[in-house]
Amino acid sequence: MTVHKKVDVVTVGAGWTAAILAYLLTQEGYRVVSLEQGPARFATPDFEHNHDSLRYSIRKAMMVDLRDETWTWRPNPSRPSLPIRQYGSFHPGNGIGGAGIHWAAQTWRFYPSDFRYRSHHVERYGEDRLPEGSTVQDWPLTYEELEPYYTRMEYDIGISGRAGNLRGEIQPGGNPFEGERMHPYPLPPLVRSRAADMFSEATREFGYHPFPQPAAILSEAYRGVSGVERAGCLYCGFCTRFGCEADAKNSPVTDHIPAALQTGLYEIRTNCKVTDVEMDGDGLANGLNYVDQITGEEHFQPAEVVILSAFTLSNVRLMLLSRSAAHPDGLGNDRQMVGKNYTYQLNLTPSTGVFEGRRFNSYMGNSCLQDVIHDFNADNFDHSDLDFIGGASITCGGGENSPLLSALSLPVLDMATSGSAGDSDGNGNGGTRKRPPVAGEVGSLAGAGSEWGAAWKENLRRNWDSVVGIGIQGESLPYVDQFLDLDPNYKDSRGRPLLRVTFDFHDNDYKLYRFMAARTAEILRAMGPTRTYLTEELEPYDVHSYQSTHNTGGAIMGSDPGNSVTNKYGQVWDTPNVFVTGAALYPQNPGMNPTGPLMALAYFAGEALSQRYFRNPRELLV
Ligand SMILES: Cc1cc2nc3c(=O)[nH]c(=O)nc-3n(C[C@H](O)[C@H](O)[C@H](O)COP(=O)(O)OP(=O)(O)OC[C@H]3O[C@@H](n4cnc5c(N)ncnc54)[C@H](O)[C@@H]3O)c2cc1C
Repeated sequence: MTVHKKVDVVTVGAGWTAAILAYLLTQEGYRVVSLEQGPARFATPDFEHNHDSLRYSIRKAMMVDLRDETWTWRPNPSRPSLPIRQYGSFHPGNGIGGAGIHWAAQTWRFYPSDFRYRSHHVERYGEDRLPEGSTVQDWPLTYEELEPYYTRMEYDIGISGRAGNLRGEIQPGGNPFEGERMHPYPLPPLVRSRAADMFSEATREFGYHPFPQPAAILSEAYRGVSGVERAGCLYCGFCTRFGCEADAKNSPVTDHIPAALQTGLYEIRTNCKVTDVEMDGDGLANGLNYVDQITGEEHFQPAEVVILSAFTLSNVRLMLLSRSAAHPDGLGNDRQMVGKNYTYQLNLTPSTGVFEGRRFNSYMGNSCLQDVIHDFNADNFDHSDLDFIGGASITCGGGENSPLLSALSLPVLDMATSGSAGDSDGNGNGGTRKRPPVAGEVGSLAGAGSEWGAAWKENLRRNWDSVVGIGIQGESLPYVDQFLDLDPNYKDSRGRPLLRVTFDFHDNDYKLYRFMAARTAEILRAMGPTRTYLTEELEPYDVHSYQSTHNTGGAIMGSDPGNSVTNKYGQVWDTPNVFVTGAALYPQNPGMNPTGPLMALAYFAGEALSQRYFRNPRELLV
């Protein structure tokens, strides 16, 4: 075992949140080491000429190696779990930059009501409207508290978008429902696709409020915290599952990691897999144990502060694997809260249209080239007479290489019954459907009655670029029978238990989906397709088909140790020199991509660490 020199802070992984914290803490003179399980890679030259769809889109070159570690899944506690042996529902990242390299870069702020979820719904609709068995709760901080940190994140990297609510004034063309923001986006929105234009025209006819997707993709040249000016997007169409060759898609390696390295106080050790948090006799963390993935050698990195920044699933697993005399059930788990409030999302494409004779150039553009409506997201609409709570983003118009390639790689029958089967985390191309059409659904994408042979090929040739999907990204609530724990049977390549995911959709999800699917169908019809393919009802959760890597919860933040694992800074109640970052902190998951808020929370925690924690180390921050 090699024991390294003690540092101020050690992080698990070098993904989005680790990069932000490394940047903030090294600026203040703290020495930081990140232990990253995957390989080294930097924007240039590593992503130049990277248009290799087979390698990245299909073979998932940037994801965790499932031969080394995977997850098991079961729909509910009474069913057996099985390991996920091929990538499906979610795609956690691997290597410097984490999933922040190959993400789609749709970047949101959550709504003020999302932070008061339980209180808001009880006040407006009464306690009996909360779904049975759900464990929804308020966040321990407000939108207003987080607002300055959203702003800083948006300006540090350069977010493109149109403000909807600037200091209380509703802005034309933006999202009129958004929480009050103090500053506009630093960059104007990205260019528009034809499909997004058609969607906007149709939704305006219904009186809805379309707006351009806020994006961590530069619409114009911009200088972020690295000090290096980067050029705007080239609209090449290689975003999701690819590193951006133009450096226009923001990632941890575009700004924060280079800026941290410039200080000389930051080190990233790659191919280093953290196995557990080493605890002392008082129940505090001493540092991280890890294995060099190349040599197999064991190492120990002592640190004053340990940051679990390894993405939701790894964070929870590491906590449960880090048992000690003081915390026999795992780090942070003195009150049995670790693993609870695991949530996901309803990231699906209920309505797809074929517009025969029209071309959309959907193989180019980028992962954020879409318009969105939030008229049915969160509690932006009255639920008094509805049979569910919560909402969803409704989106249309993205353009990327991967949808086409995924569609072509599908078996013939799947192609006949699926939408454009790409999967870009909420761009109207997600959620491949598998069942055959039922009554009420019209035709197939390749053409009714032509699912095989020459006719199928001819229809695909004619219509491959004439397909537009309308997607939803629906919120996900926590339930008592939905959680993460260690699998009693399946182990990783080193013999340690895998993380078990127990998750399925609940009644509220089915009702929410039905309502949203009907809205997407109305909008699609107003866009004038020649054929439609509608999926009116939600099917049970399917771990095989990609939906999103928006896994949240499991180490949630809360107001006290009885209802949460950490305080609002991500500081673990029972181990105060350990901080958790990322979406594991979310008590429930709103109807938007999660990374904007988790970046803002990393800024919030980083400031508290550097300005207050180190003055009074090992004490809980208030
Ligand atoms: C295909 C895809 C598209 C996405 N699109 C969007 C989007 O459009 N908008 C959005 O908001 N979000 C999106 N996301 C989600 C987004 O990427 C994540 O929310 C974000 O990267 C999380 O940041 P993080 O710091 O928590 O984890 P990550 O950025 O994933 O970093 C975690 C790091 O920890 C490392 N690690 C894990 N375990 C260990 C270990 N035991 N030892 C050492 N290292 C370890 C990993 O290798 C990784 O580098 C997308 C994700 C995917 C996969």
